[in-house]
Amino acid sequence: MRILLFGKNGQVGWALQRALAPLGDVTSLGREDESSGRERGAVDAGFLRGDLADLEGIAHTIRTLRPDVIVNAAAFTAVDAAESALEQAYAINALAPQRMAEIAREIGALLVHYSTDYVFNGSGRSPWQESDTVDPINAYGASKADGECRIRDSGARHLILRTQWVYASRGRNFIKTMLRLAQERDALSVIDDQIGAPTGADLIADVTAHLIRARAADSSGDDDGTYHLAARGETSWHGYAQRVIETARAAGIPIRTPRQAITAVSTRAFPTPARRPHNSRLSTARLESVFGLRLPEWQAGVDQSLTEILEPMLAAEHDQ
Ligand code: NDP
Repeated sequence: MRILLFGKNGQVGWALQRALAPLGDVTSLGREDESSGRERGAVDAGFLRGDLADLEGIAHTIRTLRPDVIVNAAAFTAVDAAESALEQAYAINALAPQRMAEIAREIGALLVHYSTDYVFNGSGRSPWQESDTVDPINAYGASKADGECRIRDSGARHLILRTQWVYASRGRNFIKTMLRLAQERDALSVIDDQIGAPTGADLIADVTAHLIRARAADSSGDDDGTYHLAARGETSWHGYAQRVIETARAAGIPIRTPRQAITAVSTRAFPTPARRPHNSRLSTARLESVFGLRLPEWQAGVDQSLTEILEPMLAAEHDQ
């Protein structure tokens, strides 16, 4: 199987490089990747382009490689910045996936694309189903919802995987931020009226690999479409922070914030340019029943990432 991955350096893209490797011949591209010849303005047969802002570059890249599967993990993910960079957000989150889908259709490839719970308005308390009406409340969500529509309208074989609250051990993330703040401060305020499930990039990548194998073995396209892919269970950012900080405290990390000083506050306490949905619960029943999977509880992945993050911190403590 030939697989072309866009967005190789993101949280999910990085995990996908590992998870997709056993499936076949994987070409992974990041924003900066391009072959020689481009500087001269030439588009030669060997030219590959990973920048989603270059629509014809990515079209040519797909036509050149003729992959069986295109996986798009690249996105404009700066939620607040998207409010004032609308054109850029739409170019990357809507126009680029549309172009990928058009060429996927032309060559008969499957397009795997990621979307978000931010396509919903966050009302109510029930988990969102795939069939629920989208109604984004910020520019990022609107650009992602538009990208979904354009992929569906293209007629390409596709899987759109809506996920949420993504973390990875690599790079900056909520877990590391909370650990740092809890070591520095006497008190912390964390939002408790946004509810979702922290979902590991590793889990998303592993499930994606499973889905690609399942779809490759079935050319009917019957199970193509949109799926929710998130860890099981639910929590608030406050509940998530408490788990992280208390686990670190129990492991022996010198935490300065007492448990009772981790205060739950409403979203209004932290005004941001983009509105955030309160209800980010995603029902994963469809994905689990169609593909025979059982998604793990969110705590399992967070605890594993925490172990990876805490080990060097504990070793440093021990050496002091
Ligand atoms: P990251 O922000 O970690 O990674 C996004 C990647 O896209 C980065 O490597 C970035 O490159 C790349 N990118 C941005 N612009 C371009 C461009 N013009 N050309 C090529 N690459 C570009 O995101 P995640 O891995 O967390 O997200 C993966 C998917 O999951 C996305 O579709 C996102 O919308 C979705 N998602 C993410 C959530 C989250 O909490 N993070 C929640 C819900 C859905 P660079 O490093 O150069 O900027």
